[in-house]
Amino acid sequence: MTDMYAICDVMKKPHGVLHVSYPESGGGVSLRPSTIMKELSDMLCENGAPLEIKRIEFDRLTRLGADGCAKRAATLFATEKSCYYEVLRNAVSGRAILEERIAYGSAYECMAENDKLRLDGVYDTPERVALPDGAYFKDTTSVSRLETFFNCPYSHYFKYILGLRKRKDGKQEGTENGTVLHYILEKFFSDVRDGVLTKAEDIRDKAYAYFDEAIRVNGFEVLLEKQDIGRLLRRVKEEGVRVCEDLYEIYQRSEFKPALLEAKIGEDGIQPMTLKVGDRTVRLKGTIDRVDTCGDMFTIVDYKTYKSADLTLKELYYGQKIQLYIYMKAVEDSLKAKPVGVFYLPIFAGFMSDDTSRYKFKGQVTNNESIMAQLDSVAAYAPRESVVPYRLARDRKTLNPDVHLPRHAFDLLGNYAVRLAEKGADEIANGYIKPSPVKDTCKNCNFAEICAYRECNERKLGTAGMSSFDISDKDSDGENGKSETNKNDGGGTAEKANANKEFKE
Ligand code: SF4
Repeated sequence: MTDMYAICDVMKKPHGVLHVSYPESGGGVSLRPSTIMKELSDMLCENGAPLEIKRIEFDRLTRLGADGCAKRAATLFATEKSCYYEVLRNAVSGRAILEERIAYGSAYECMAENDKLRLDGVYDTPERVALPDGAYFKDTTSVSRLETFFNCPYSHYFKYILGLRKRKDGKQEGTENGTVLHYILEKFFSDVRDGVLTKAEDIRDKAYAYFDEAIRVNGFEVLLEKQDIGRLLRRVKEEGVRVCEDLYEIYQRSEFKPALLEAKIGEDGIQPMTLKVGDRTVRLKGTIDRVDTCGDMFTIVDYKTYKSADLTLKELYYGQKIQLYIYMKAVEDSLKAKPVGVFYLPIFAGFMSDDTSRYKFKGQVTNNESIMAQLDSVAAYAPRESVVPYRLARDRKTLNPDVHLPRHAFDLLGNYAVRLAEKGADEIANGYIKPSPVKDTCKNCNFAEICAYRECNERKLGTAGMSSFDISDKDSDGENGKSETNKNDGGGTAEKANANKEFKE
């Protein structure tokens, strides 16, 4: 009777539409609707048919918590208008997490038709924006900007066109360790290269000095005083010693020696690089961590301070990791030398293995085993233990063609990366912004909280390997790559690859 009274009372009040809702569960058990619900639906009808009961999955509103969830949701979605405002405020603004979207989808169904039309307009996926010529690029751009674009054009739009930045919350950025380790390694190899550091026993004192300098030049003194980050940074101080000692040992095993450190494209002995964007040229900027040389050969090394760093041909193919191959082209043209390795080198604080085999270049290396041994003498007798990538093909006899490349393949990949960068830059200049993230990109996106398209239109990338770049087997330098040729087809075949197709779809 209490229910009956409440319903009668409430039915006298509204002037427009009355929504009556009830929970399906509560307190961990299923609930049945009050008999009043049946009486109401028998009593009322629309176009001669009983009123339809629409289901709203309130329990998906995780932020409301389990207790009282249905009650609060009933309040939030009590009227057509409140459904509209709630959907607008949470779902369209991007605040709602994925699990809540079902609830907001149900709320959408309860909205008035004209409000639905208004929201539908908002949800039209944007493809392009028209900005004045030159608004997209000034004179320069970076390769990492292009990689952002290939990961999600909408995230690129937020960051580089609108100039949005992640809100600073005073917490540790997580980049300090990398900054300090990069600095230590730059100074360390600079002293090694210049003959200032020649004895392993001097490394500890030197590394401490590099650390102190890194703290000073980056203004991190204040961070050292903070409890959490200070402790982490002091660990990096010890890790810096360890990394220098280990890499010195690897350095001594190699005929390749550091030639360029933290070298900037267009400076430091590396000639400028430009991209053709429409009828104008845009200068590329970027910094290369390390270039090692041996005679007329060189390798590119990029330090990464996370363990899972990898450089696969698939990521190059889809534009996610074109940076090192573009740098490789810049160095090749500048030094007039030939590339035999393009590598990430993961160096991460906190890894406490006791041997130098924890260091492994990730990326592509020559398929010439003699040169692999020049890169690391250990590769001559125990390639798996060496710092050089070593992977066999499926036949377990020959080298994996996606890791071990013939000479001309480096050129093909380099040309491909440059062409892809130009296509990406061209799309940016034409205002392409469609939210179409590569799968899982949204999980680490700085703009996820304000993006209405989070995890929508996700692109699942296909597989890609050396064959995707259209290099036929007959171009290879022999089964195990015992010999090198200087074949260079100028990248003509690689350009045919339609690798930039996916970001438009
Ligand atoms: S949240 Fe996802 S769709 Fe939105 S900008 Fe970020 S990566 Fe792109």
